[in-house]
Amino acid sequence: LLKNADLAMYYAKRGGGNNYQYFTTRMSEIALQRLNLENHLRKAIELNELELHYQPQLDIGKGEFCALEALIRWKCQALGPLAPNDFIPVAEETGLIVNIGEWVLRQACQQAKKLRDDGVPLSRMAVNVSAIQFLHKGFPLLVKKILAETGLEPAVLELELTESVLVNEEEIVLNVLQSLKEIGVELAIDDFGTGYSSLSRLKSFPIDRLKIDRSFMHNIEQDPDNAAIVIAIIAMAESMNMKVIAEGVETDNQLSFLSKKRCTEAQGYLLSKPLPSAEIAKFLLKEFS
Ligand code: C2E
Ligand code: CA
Ligand code: CA
Ligand code: CA
Repeated sequence: LLKNADLAMYYAKRGGGNNYQYFTTRMSEIALQRLNLENHLRKAIELNELELHYQPQLDIGKGEFCALEALIRWKCQALGPLAPNDFIPVAEETGLIVNIGEWVLRQACQQAKKLRDDGVPLSRMAVNVSAIQFLHKGFPLLVKKILAETGLEPAVLELELTESVLVNEEEIVLNVLQSLKEIGVELAIDDFGTGYSSLSRLKSFPIDRLKIDRSFMHNIEQDPDNAAIVIAIIAMAESMNMKVIAEGVETDNQLSFLSKKRCTEAQGYLLSKPLPSAEIAKFLLKEFS
C-alpha cells in the first residue's frame, strides 16, 4: 500500500495530470496526506513545534532513578499532536530525520547539562538515533561538536541504536561505533531481540547496554517463551559484560520477575511515563530525598 502511495505521490509531484487519474482516489488520498505531513514536518523545527519528553529509568538494585530517555513529541499547529510512530518513518524516508535528529541531540544534551548544573542527580541521558542519522556522513563529529557546545560530559550521553543499524556493512558500522566510543559516549541497542543482528557481530561491536524490547514483557510470568527470551537476553548481556535494561514495564509482577532474574535496570509506565521537561527535576529530586 505504501509503495502504491509513493508511486501516486511521484506522479502527483511530477504534475502528470493524465497519469494521476490511473490511481485510485484512496491511494492519492494517502499520498496527499503524506505529502501534507512532510510539508508540515519540514517547518516543525522553525515553528518551534518539536519538544522532548523524558522517561526515567530505574536502577533496580539501588532503587534509584538516575537516567532518562529523551522521546520526541510534535505539537503540529496544523495537524494536531502527533506520536513519533506517525512521523518518524516519514522523517526517515524523506531524510528530514537528519536535521530533526540533530535538534533532538542538542536539546537533550542541553537539558542534561542544565539538570546536572542544577544539582539534579542525573548520570545518563539516552537519545534515540535512527539508522539514517547514524550512517549520515560526519555523525560522530556532530556528536562531538554538540557535546563541546553544550559542555555535557560525554559519558553522560547514551545513544540508542536499533538492530537495523548493525546489519549494515560491518566495517562501516564498526568504524562509526569506534569513533563514538573514542568520544566517550555510551552505546545501547534498542528493541533488542526483535531484529536480526547476529550474535557474533554483536560481540565484536563496542556496545554498553541492551534494551530488552517491550514486546517480551507481555504476560512474562505466564508466557514461557517470553520468560525464556528475557532470561536469555539477561544472561547474554552479562556474559558479554553489557548492562541490560527492560522497557515497557507496566506491572509489579513484571518488575519483581526482572529483579529475581537479575535484570539491572527497568523503564516503563509502572515507574513513570515520559515527562515534559518542566517536571523532570522535581521527579528526580523527589525520588532521591
Ligand atoms: P522506543 O525508543 O522503543 O521508545 C519507547 C516507547 O514506548 C515510547 O513511545 C514510550 O513512550 C513507550 N513506553 C514507555 N513505557 C511504556 C510502557 O510501560 N508501556 C507501553 N506500552 N509503552 C511504553 P513513543 O514516545 O511514542 O516513541 C515511539 C518510538 O518512536 C520510539 O520507540 C522510537 O523508536 C521513536 N522515537 C521517539 N523519539 C525519537 C527520537 O527523538 N528520534 C528517533 N530517531 N526516534 C524516536
Ligand atoms: Ca529507545
Ligand atoms: Ca525501545
Ligand atoms: Ca520501539
